Amino acid sequence: MKKVASIPLSDISRLEIVVTNCKIGLEQTRAKTGADYLLNGGMWNGDGTPCRGLKVYGKLLSLSPWGDIAGYGWNTPGDIRLKAKWDDVDNYIATSPLILDGEPLDKIPYDSAQGGRRPRSAMGIVGNSLLLFCSSDAMTPEEVRDELADRGCSSAMMLDSGGSTQCYFNGETIKADRLVHNWIAVWTKPNEEKENPVGTYRVTPSIGVNVRSGPGTNYEKVTAYAQNTLVTVLYAQDGWGRTDKGWVSMAYLEAVQSDRKTDNGIVIQDDFIPVGRKNRPGKSNPDEYITIHETGNISKGADAAAHASYVKSDSAANDYVSWHYTVDDHAIVQHIPDSETAYHAGDGKDGPGNNTSIGIEICVNLDGDFEKAKENAASLVRLLMSEHGIDIDHVVQHNHWNGKDCPYTIRHTGTWDAFLALCAGGEKPVSELEAAVDKLFDAGLINSPDYWKAGDYSVENVHHLLIKWAGSI
Ligand SMILES: [Zn+2]
Repeated sequence: MKKVASIPLSDISRLEIVVTNCKIGLEQTRAKTGADYLLNGGMWNGDGTPCRGLKVYGKLLSLSPWGDIAGYGWNTPGDIRLKAKWDDVDNYIATSPLILDGEPLDKIPYDSAQGGRRPRSAMGIVGNSLLLFCSSDAMTPEEVRDELADRGCSSAMMLDSGGSTQCYFNGETIKADRLVHNWIAVWTKPNEEKENPVGTYRVTPSIGVNVRSGPGTNYEKVTAYAQNTLVTVLYAQDGWGRTDKGWVSMAYLEAVQSDRKTDNGIVIQDDFIPVGRKNRPGKSNPDEYITIHETGNISKGADAAAHASYVKSDSAANDYVSWHYTVDDHAIVQHIPDSETAYHAGDGKDGPGNNTSIGIEICVNLDGDFEKAKENAASLVRLLMSEHGIDIDHVVQHNHWNGKDCPYTIRHTGTWDAFLALCAGGEKPVSELEAAVDKLFDAGLINSPDYWKAGDYSVENVHHLLIKWAGSI
């Protein structure tokens, strides 16, 4: 039997290591703490003292790592991270890391007594959620690592295993007889207190804003954001927001999620790929170019929303495929913040297309209006050009980066220049043919210019026109 719990960090009111010193079991620990989730924690020696890294309520109980071992550390639930430092956090537990910085470890640090197939428990981070894993089925450490990688963990660590493996996950239990030294304990907020997902913000002060290692000015400065940087706040508490780089005071941020709108009135919807997925590498992007693509998917219903769910799928993650925006004839959805790298240009992980451009996919679904989708894409291009100071000569085709025949329809209908004109001018350019129709109307040779402009250049109409034209000479 396997039990897996995924708990949004913003829903957690308390996350603690509860030490029971091998004195009481799961049921008693539950009764005593009232925790909503309990999972057996770290390891201990034969004499009952804990081993590897363990720090509880600011007190270091053990520090006997071997080699360069990483553990989960946190002051508040929102800032939990797998890291090698324990001195700046109140809570720290180190056993055997499985996934570090999005990379499954080739060689998992454990000794022979921990190897082989046995029941296992582990913890990890998926997007903005804490994942707790408990399996009474026997597994190797490598199998646990692979399963947690498949579940999208950006970091993960094995806990104690074998006879210690047990859990209570909000009503579901895996029981074991062994009394354990400590537990990972989670209390969640009552439903009415759960925070709304937080979103995209713009840095407002002209001098920028400091990014700190924790939610307060007493925490050290780790970096800074310049004015107008768009940042994604993953979790907020006490007036501070956590981004992928650290904590920022919310007083210096303004929300852009709902008021970010193109000049033709389309509100940009955020539907981000979770942080830590393989196709959201998190590298910073200086936003020097805009790259135009077409989805190449003509299926009915292959619109922006459908592509938003595709880029969040395991298959997109495993194929390292991502881009920033999908545009159809009625919606624009953003999948990755502009300031981050995405994998759309086909020029490699370090390629300039992937690392310096914002990727836009235009939908070509047959039940959509491609001309309208292009107009919406052009309005998005205008918005991005003004937000990031990008010139029209830095609006390029996917083809520019790796030679791919994309955007296919635009390339094959010879309408790239018209698309750029649409981006630059904001108005649909008048074609030569339309201008000619206007001229003939003014000369009295045709009567219904709109009828002609709608595209009815049939042979019969052209014959009538020639006869009329001849008669006028
Ligand atoms: Zn493309």
